[in-house]
Amino acid sequence: MRNRFHILLTLFALLLLMAACVPVTPEETAAAPEQPKLRVVTSGTILANHIYNIAGDLITIDQIVPPGADPHTYEPTPSDAVKLSEAELVIVRGATNPEAVRRRLASIVGDENSVVLIAPLALEPEDYIYDEFGSIDQHMGGDTMLALKFAGVIRDTLVEQDPANADAYNANYDQFAARIDELDAAIRAVTASIPEENRQLYSYHDSFSYMARRYGYTIVGTLQPHDFSEPSAHDVAEAIELLRELDLPAIFGSSYSPSTVLEQISREADVPIYWYDDDNLPGEPGDPEHSFFYMKVRNQKALAEALGGDATLMDHIETRNIPETE
Ligand SMILES: [Zn+2]
Repeated sequence: MRNRFHILLTLFALLLLMAACVPVTPEETAAAPEQPKLRVVTSGTILANHIYNIAGDLITIDQIVPPGADPHTYEPTPSDAVKLSEAELVIVRGATNPEAVRRRLASIVGDENSVVLIAPLALEPEDYIYDEFGSIDQHMGGDTMLALKFAGVIRDTLVEQDPANADAYNANYDQFAARIDELDAAIRAVTASIPEENRQLYSYHDSFSYMARRYGYTIVGTLQPHDFSEPSAHDVAEAIELLRELDLPAIFGSSYSPSTVLEQISREADVPIYWYDDDNLPGEPGDPEHSFFYMKVRNQKALAEALGGDATLMDHIETRNIPETE
């Protein structure tokens, strides 16, 4: 009996000793459990990427329109409503009918203060461009300085809603602003390298307005009907006639507004098509090309090649996202 007690004591001492020798992992020394991340939901990949560039992995970011989809024709699903109802913060552009958008989203999210409409906060009335039907053109990212204004609202919102990470949001925004300045200068240089008579844009989808205003291009035509249907035979015939007359070096097709007639028009008017991204980022989150900067560089290179400019003027622009947490 005595021996048994002795053995138990020895075992106990050994266990204590072993416990003292086992290296302690960092998780075990953490004084407090990790703070849950702010759950943010946004509309599509471009805004999601702006938010990612300011916040990195400090928050969770989800989006309604998936990568590769056309946001103009996307139909929200019941699971989108679930996503929104679980969000702590919803950030959307909200340029058109902002009060109605705010009310509708607040009824799903449950709190008006959790809905942030970027455009009314970021933009002045003179920033907006309207199409021929009087609707606000939504392709504001074509003007890189408007993209920076959006990023400023995202930073202010995150600093307010998640002050513990304010330093990181401010630092990432400062880097974003510096990168936007470099990008803007490079796009100006590319534009200057394109012969002036070639700075004319004919596109399938009407998404070049903000880019054209900022950098000095003339939009000579768009083909897609306002309701995003296919153009009629009459529209196609007119387009071919106009393009033969204009004798442009190239026309432009949007990757996310596929058309069965653009290739026909290209053949019959004898003008090549260049493809560009406007309403959605290439690739999936986590891919190197899934970045606003990558999309801008790729688009400007396509434009330079199409219109006789110097695409190498974009070569020095960093295309990766800013946070190094990928
Ligand atoms: Zn569009």
